[in-house]
Amino acid sequence: MNFASSLSNVKGVGEKTAEQFILAGIHTVNDLVTFLPRKHEDFSDVVKIADISPGKKTIRARCEKIATRPVRRGLRITTATLADDTGKLQAVWFNQPYRATQLKGNDEFFFSGEFEFNYNKYQLSNPSAEKVSDVPVSTDRIVPTYRAIKGLKSQVVRKILTELKPLITMYPETLPANVVGTQKLISYADALMGMHFPKGPDDIQAARDRLGFEELFQLLLASQLNKQANAQLEGWHIPFDQQVVASFVKQLPFDLTAAQRRAAWEIIQDFEREVPMNRLLQGDVGSGKTVVAGLAARQAAHAGFQTAIMAPTEILASQHAETLTKLLEPFGLTVGLLTGSVKGKARVTLYEMIANGTVDVVVGTHALIQQTVHFNKLGFVAIDEQHRFGVKQRQELLKKSEKMPHLLAMTATPIPRSLALTVYGELDVSILNELPKGRKPIETKIWSPNSSAQLYEKIDTEIKAGRQAYVICSLIDDNPDNEIKSVETEYKKLRNSVFKHRTIGLLHGKMKPDEKDAVMQSFASGKVDILVSTTVVEVGVDVPNATAMLIENADRFGLSQLHQLRGRVGRSSHQSYCYLVMSDSSKPSQRLREIEKSNDGFYLAEVDLQLRGPGEIYGRAQHGALNLQIATLADTKLIKRAQDAAKLFVQSGDDLLQYKQLAEQVNTYQRLTTLN
Ligand code: ADP
Ligand code: MG
Repeated sequence: MNFASSLSNVKGVGEKTAEQFILAGIHTVNDLVTFLPRKHEDFSDVVKIADISPGKKTIRARCEKIATRPVRRGLRITTATLADDTGKLQAVWFNQPYRATQLKGNDEFFFSGEFEFNYNKYQLSNPSAEKVSDVPVSTDRIVPTYRAIKGLKSQVVRKILTELKPLITMYPETLPANVVGTQKLISYADALMGMHFPKGPDDIQAARDRLGFEELFQLLLASQLNKQANAQLEGWHIPFDQQVVASFVKQLPFDLTAAQRRAAWEIIQDFEREVPMNRLLQGDVGSGKTVVAGLAARQAAHAGFQTAIMAPTEILASQHAETLTKLLEPFGLTVGLLTGSVKGKARVTLYEMIANGTVDVVVGTHALIQQTVHFNKLGFVAIDEQHRFGVKQRQELLKKSEKMPHLLAMTATPIPRSLALTVYGELDVSILNELPKGRKPIETKIWSPNSSAQLYEKIDTEIKAGRQAYVICSLIDDNPDNEIKSVETEYKKLRNSVFKHRTIGLLHGKMKPDEKDAVMQSFASGKVDILVSTTVVEVGVDVPNATAMLIENADRFGLSQLHQLRGRVGRSSHQSYCYLVMSDSSKPSQRLREIEKSNDGFYLAEVDLQLRGPGEIYGRAQHGALNLQIATLADTKLIKRAQDAAKLFVQSGDDLLQYKQLAEQVNTYQRLTTLN
């Protein structure tokens, strides 16, 4: 038997068990021995119920009574009475109804959870449960728990792994010896042993250090290599013309901020190089990214190149087209808008104009990446709100040029440093770290559900002063149709009562593109006083005269999403307000308190990363395969170490292909994070 053997060759693995493993993607011995435990339970310290005190505790008990009841949509609570020979206590689980089946009968279990005061009594919250007879008898009783595989218990996984123990100790090293040595890591085999058969907490720690380092090393090596590959590419040379840039800046109705000037300069320098630009323009909401892209497009057009600007929504694409037309038309440039709603003859004509170069700047949605779109000479690609797009879509767009075009990825979701280093490690970054002059911080406040009347008055005061407002309705449950219902109900309610004397607009994702456009136009031109909308306005929308935003059911939104939404106001020198109305009168969540406290997108992104993890924030599309099992991106120290080691490895000229497993993983990451 070796690591490539199929699992059915292992003693104790019957046909049925092997099939279940295969369903979970575990085919070979290697797959199983590298299948890491989700966590470790420490059963070495079991307390008697009579002696229990608050904190993380383990008891050994039987379940006497268990019942599940629905509390509200999406929440089911299971409560149980657990007993040992010294007493009883109550345990509670959220959304784990299977506990009733698991704990039925008279078996003894180890329960491990937080013993805490909740809902007016002490109870054990969300404890794990391991049948005592399933727990291996070792003196230390630190037991690995594996991700649930349908029909396969952790206990079975542990048993089979025990069978494989001798083989695991011989697992070949996966990292270059040099890296293991200088980083003072334990061997891969020892790390696997430490994860599967820890003798104590120190074993687990050493194993986690080693494996966490390895994950980050792979990721960072991938981005180093991408960066290196990018440097080999030949791009378009777009020469800097000072007069062109100066005349563009001169006609702007405002002065560029120092940060905008710096970013524009960085882009223009990249344009001059042989190597295509690969740059991320990061700036908080309202920091003025669009005009920076406009300036670059102006320079590109002057050198005879077309620009493509891709935006995630039609609303945003048409807004950009309008903004850029204003900025570029004075110089005789033509801006085209390509979205799903440009149809028939108009679309064909636009295709022709793009293909023959009549259109200098094409703004569009996903429609831009279709096969039917051919550019004459695409030199510059800007992707707005880039985190909304997958790698594939960016690559498709970049392919529409003979040589790799210069790429500017723009994002208003500030990327915490740790992610910037890892996932986006190969990008050069420009940061707009200042807002245009005269902007006042948005006043944000949490309100209870019955404060509407008061808030409508505040909104009316704003309108009286010539300003405009948004009212945002959220998803009431997971059904998008209900979101439409809620926004329509709200719209009718406001129109027929408190705001009878005002003009109200309705906007949601299911409306036809030209309807959406018409509403946005009337709002942008000031004809509509209040826009009642779903989150379709979340990103990018720019109506500087809007100064108030009321967000209903604010607790249902994520932190970054709230920050983005709120960024629709505070876009002029007028004081702006954001009212966060809660669904019920419970205590505001940490999310809401953070957003109330801070207007700083970078700070909020860090908090969001802590609260939710990177996968949730940066979208499955892009980083679903960013399969960090051990390392966390919050561990900046480890990231730094891995970064340095990856750089050294690349410089050393050591051949990656010597390290098969490492090479495979690095290759996957390279494809995942590359922009090219
Ligand atoms: P974002 O970075 O969120 O994409 P936008 O590009 O939409 O920001 O710009 C926000 C608003 O600020 C727009 O109305 C834009 O015209 C305006 N703006 C951009 N730069 C400046 C500046 N330097 N001074 C004043 N207003 C500016
Ligand atoms: Mg924008």
